[in-house]
Amino acid sequence: MAPTGRIPPAFRSLFAGLRFPWQNQRYRLGPGRSVRKIGVAALKVAVPKEVFEGETRVALTPAVADEIRKRQHEVLVEAGAGRASLFADEQYREAGAAIVGDPVELYRSADVVLKVNPPEVHPEAGRHEVELLREGAALIGFLMPLDNPEAIERLARCRITSFAMEYIPRITRAQSMDALSSMATVSGYKAALVGAGLLRKFFPLLMTAAGTIPPATVLVLGAGVAGLQAVATAKRLGAKVEAFDPRPAVKEQVQSLGAQFVEMEVPEDVETAGGYAKEQSEEFLRREQETIAARLAKVDVVITTAQVFGKKAPVLITEEMVERMRPGSVIVDLAVRQGGNCALSRPKETLERHGVTIVGAWNLAAEVPVHASQMYARNIANLFLHIYPAPSSVPDYEDEITRASCITRAGEIVQESVRKTLELKP
Ligand code: NAD
Repeated sequence: MAPTGRIPPAFRSLFAGLRFPWQNQRYRLGPGRSVRKIGVAALKVAVPKEVFEGETRVALTPAVADEIRKRQHEVLVEAGAGRASLFADEQYREAGAAIVGDPVELYRSADVVLKVNPPEVHPEAGRHEVELLREGAALIGFLMPLDNPEAIERLARCRITSFAMEYIPRITRAQSMDALSSMATVSGYKAALVGAGLLRKFFPLLMTAAGTIPPATVLVLGAGVAGLQAVATAKRLGAKVEAFDPRPAVKEQVQSLGAQFVEMEVPEDVETAGGYAKEQSEEFLRREQETIAARLAKVDVVITTAQVFGKKAPVLITEEMVERMRPGSVIVDLAVRQGGNCALSRPKETLERHGVTIVGAWNLAAEVPVHASQMYARNIANLFLHIYPAPSSVPDYEDEITRASCITRAGEIVQESVRKTLELKP
């Protein structure tokens, strides 16, 4: 292959892995500062095995890998990547994917890596996943930028183009990419089952020859996607369910599931333009704690899902409130990654305090890995194909979805709110 041009060293990294769409050709930096034409390129889309502790999900299922391949992309899957979610290497092979045994080779050959969790140090390779990527490659996944500033800075430094699933705008056009909602659905469902499993009582009303057993009472705090799924699941199991959320639209949604909405006076301006709850005042949280406290003595299971995007989760249950609960009650705290809605919950731990079982539910979606992976794969593939509809595509940053989800590009942190927050961090 003959060199097709020479570029000054200062601009070299701009050309690494670059493709010119009008030519559908691919160019790479070759020896002697030359840019080499390396032919018509299929994008190499790589799916590594997740290295995050306890993770069982995988970013692509064989069926979705097949769809990506049919769009003229090449799919590479790390050996064993789908094993914990019951997708065998053989199924990926049948879907036309290549199985790669060595993770270092997988990362190095990838144009785009699809992942579930934010990049971290790879235990086998002994290096950070970001550093295993080629300069100019792209990474798509949950990046949790505010919890992982170091990884985000590394992505920028290594000139990786990164897209975060949680920054996809919640607009109608992007609903099929909404992995936050998919994973919240799984977690909400599983939270109700965890609560039912730990409660030393029945959930449903039972009328038996041995007497009548009243239904358990479940209180759900925060009725967004996860909360509503917890409400629906607890209802299906026969519990009496109550729920609270400060957003006004939620009351009707809770009632339509057959649950009771906990009434409380809320400020007018509780919601952002994007449909998220705003951070509430201390005065409001104090009143909310009082309203909850008044109910806790009659509740068997509390499922907490209250979150405020980009902020620490509000504390809705204090230690004094736990003390007032009946012995044997259960709290399942889904907001524990964001600091927790219960003051006593601890990440990944199930504790007993004042006779109450408190679950710091860290990664419930990983406990339903088959369907969680199936939903996630569909969401991430829709985002990937939106950004790269064809092998020759380059991301269109004029597009709202592409622009909003892009966190780093060309050596910079380009997502404005992430950049501002990270600048403020010590
Ligand atoms: P989330 O996970 O950020 O928060 C969970 C819930 O906690 C929210 O319902 C929020 O109102 C609630 N909350 C916040 N502070 C609280 C407090 N002090 N007490 C009790 N609850 C509190 O939110 P989510 O579930 O990801 O989404 C929230 C909403 O976003 C959805 O219900 C929906 O209206 C909207 N949404 C829109 C789309 C779309 O495509 N248009 C998609 C998904 C979600």
